[in-house]
Formats: sequence, C-alpha cells, structure tokens
Amino acid sequence: MKKISVIGAGFAGLSLSLRLAQKGFEVDIYEQGPRVGGLIGTDKNQFGLAEQAANSMIRTAHAEALFKDIGLTPLSALESSKKRFIFREKPRPWPLYFSETVKFIGKLLFNLTRGKKNFSPRENETLQSWGYRIIGAPATQFILSPGMQGIYGNATDELSASLILGPLINRKKKDKSQPQYKGIMTGPEGMQDVIDHLEAKLKELGVRIHLNSNVKVKELSGPVVVATSAQSASEILKSSHADVAAKLSRIQMSSLMSVTVYFAKAQNTYPGFGCLIPRYYGLKALGILMNSYIFAGRDKTYSETWIFGGAHDNSILDMSDAEVLKTIATERFRVLGNKETLLDYRIFRWRNALPFYNVELEKTLKDLNSQELPEGLFLHGNYLGGIGLSKILERGDKLAEEIAGRYV
Ligand SMILES: Cc1cc2nc3c(=O)[nH]c(=O)nc-3n(C[C@H](O)[C@H](O)[C@H](O)COP(=O)(O)OP(=O)(O)OC[C@H]3O[C@@H](n4cnc5c(N)ncnc54)[C@H](O)[C@@H]3O)c2cc1C
Repeated sequence: MKKISVIGAGFAGLSLSLRLAQKGFEVDIYEQGPRVGGLIGTDKNQFGLAEQAANSMIRTAHAEALFKDIGLTPLSALESSKKRFIFREKPRPWPLYFSETVKFIGKLLFNLTRGKKNFSPRENETLQSWGYRIIGAPATQFILSPGMQGIYGNATDELSASLILGPLINRKKKDKSQPQYKGIMTGPEGMQDVIDHLEAKLKELGVRIHLNSNVKVKELSGPVVVATSAQSASEILKSSHADVAAKLSRIQMSSLMSVTVYFAKAQNTYPGFGCLIPRYYGLKALGILMNSYIFAGRDKTYSETWIFGGAHDNSILDMSDAEVLKTIATERFRVLGNKETLLDYRIFRWRNALPFYNVELEKTLKDLNSQELPEGLFLHGNYLGGIGLSKILERGDKLAEEIAGRYV
C-alpha cells in the first residue's frame, strides 16, 4: 500500500485524507493542535449551539457525497432562511432604489451583450473596479460589496475579481462535473458533527491521526500534502522548500471574530438568513447571521452570530468582551432597531485565520502555478481557489484523483 502524509487536520486535511484512504493509500495525518477540525467547531451550551467559524456549507454534489460517505444525515436550512437582508438605512431584501435598479439592469444587460471578454474580470482587476464597470456604483456598493465581504471578510476595493468571479463566469453551462448549488447544509448537531463523523470514518479506514505533532516535512517519507493555512504552510516549508515558502509568505491573512449572542425573545421584524452591512455606514460589523431562522431544532432561545474583522481590521480582535458586546448593542439598535439585553454570548477570535483574496493573492497563485512543485509535495487549503468548505472539498476531491493517478 502506498504511504502518504497529510499535515494539518482542518476540514481540508481531513476531507482530502478520506478520499486518499478510499483510494487505497495508507494515510498519516499530523496535526499541531490537540484536536482535529481546525477553524471548525461547535460550542454546545444551555442556550443552543454556537459555531466557532463556518455555520454550514453549500450543498453541492461533492458535499452530499461526503455526508453520505461519513454516514451523516444533513440538516437543511429552513424556508425562512431564503429571505436575506442588506442594510441601507434599515435591513432591506433589495437595497437599491427604483432609479438605481433600472440603471443597474440596463448596465448589466448592455455589458452582457458586449460579450464574455468584456464581462470577464481583467488581470489584477479589483472586484470594485469590475463592479463599477459592469453593474455600476450603487449595485457595487450595496449588493456586490456587502455580499462578498460576507464571504471573504474584506471590502471589494482590494479583492481580486478574477479569483472570486472568474470560476463563476467561466463555468460551462450544463457541465455535470461542476457542483450544482442547492442551498446550504450542516450536521444536525452543528459543524462539529461533520468533523466528528469525518474523524470516525477516517479511523475506521485505518487512517492514523497524530495530534500535538511538530513533524517536519524532511522527516517524512513518501508524498506529503501540506493542508494548513497559507501562513502555516510557508512556515512548514521554510527549511525544506524555501522557494515555495517564500511565495506562500506573500499571502496576506485576515483576522475574523465571530460572536454568537442569545436573547430571550426573537427579533421578528426582519426574519431571515441574516443582514449584510455595507462598509459605507462605517459600522464595525460585517454582517449578522440570524441562526434561529436558518436551522431548526438547535437553539433553545433566539440567537444571532455577528461577524467582525478583515485584513484591515485586525485590531478588532484586541477589543475586550465588554467592548465587543457594547459595539453589538449599539450596532444592533442601529441596524435592527432592537434594544433587548442579551442572555449570554460566545466570542471566537481568529487571528490571521483566512487568506485575503486580494490582487496580491491572484499574482502569488499565478507564480505558484507557473512553477512545478517539487516531486512528492502537494498543497491544499482555502487559499488555493475557494475559501468556503464546498470549494475546498471540490478541490480536494480533484487533488486526490491527481495523487492517485501518480502513485497508485
Ligand atoms: C468566522 C468564520 C466563518 C466562516 N463561515 C463559513 C461558512 O459559513 N461556510 C463555509 O463554507 N466556510 C466558512 N468559513 C471558512 C472555512 O471555515 C475555512 O476556510 C475552513 O474551515 C478552512 O479549513 P482548512 O482545513 O483549510 O484550514 P484550518 O481550519 O485553518 O485547518 C488547518 C489545520 O492545520 C493545522 N496546522 C497548522 N500548522 C501546522 C503544523 N505546522 N503542523 C501540523 N498542523 C498544523 C492547524 O492547527 C489546523 O488544525 C468561515 C471562516 C471563519 C473564520
């Protein structure tokens, strides 16, 4: 049996290891921390669940196959989660005024008729420039920008249009190999359920998981996959593959903070998935998830998760709990018009947690792709094509095929 080592037991490392083990590899996973799951985890408390990071994943064919393979019945989102809000003086399902909507549709249609070359993002173009060019300023400011900041944690004036929109625009029509999006899904007990089932399945397949490990690439024989954050991958490869490490060190990271707050009474003025907050208003929060309107049967009382941070707001993590809660109280009144006192809270601070999907990352990935990685070295993670779990999974499934093609 062919041996392979995977460094990092976050979602990327675990899901890739599953596919490798299923393809007949003898897999060893080396994890620096005392537990598997990386960013993902669920705090179960007397009020319900609080997700540390991801609260769900997009339901693609790859995601459904993963849940099936690990024996987990997915929990789908409630009907109420279909309603989404963007803040413009108040939460609105559609944040553009009538005249702006007419201009937005006109500009979009005009640009669509000018062909794919014009519509596609240009090299090193920011999402904001693409937006102004294709859909106009108001739609960029009040739809594109808050939407992307909700996923990538950063404002559109630096995000790379081609990294983010390229795969969507260039997707072939009716290509069955591409994931079909069918809402979102999680485990009945939250995202930790996904990690627990993955870990159990890996152990069943004979995968060895080494926790609290400080393994060095040089110490490992056979192919190695480094499945950590970009920053950790750069550290790991410094002594063995200095050129790759130097490229990875150019990837900037952003810090995020996720705060789940519990209330005795549900706010029912704006029931839905949540509310995105455009940077325009100068508020600290990037968005709010209304957990109790997203998944059923998990919370004993109403809860919301507030997301803060971004590459230029790393200092937000230095705020004390009291300062964070004061900010939420002020911004909750401004956004939702609600003054209720909270029952309890959970704060998760993630320093340098996610890659900044900026134009610099676009250039770095081009550099990395133009250079063949040394024989036997593979990279996997959320900086290589998608920050979300469904994208990581899709890439991991392809990578496992490639590795199996080379070594089995
Ligand atoms: C607040 C927040 C909300 C999010 N919401 C969503 C969402 O709703 N949906 C979604 O799809 N995605 C979401 N994401 C993104 C998603 O959670 C992450 O992109 C994903 O979990 C990253 O997984 P990973 O395995 O690539 O990295 P990580 O989870 O960072 O795992 C990397 C692992 O490598 C280990 N490691 C590091 N260095 C070493 C070393 N030297 N040796 C051994 N091990 C090492 C780390 O300890 C860690 O366990 C969210 C992220 C955040 C922060």
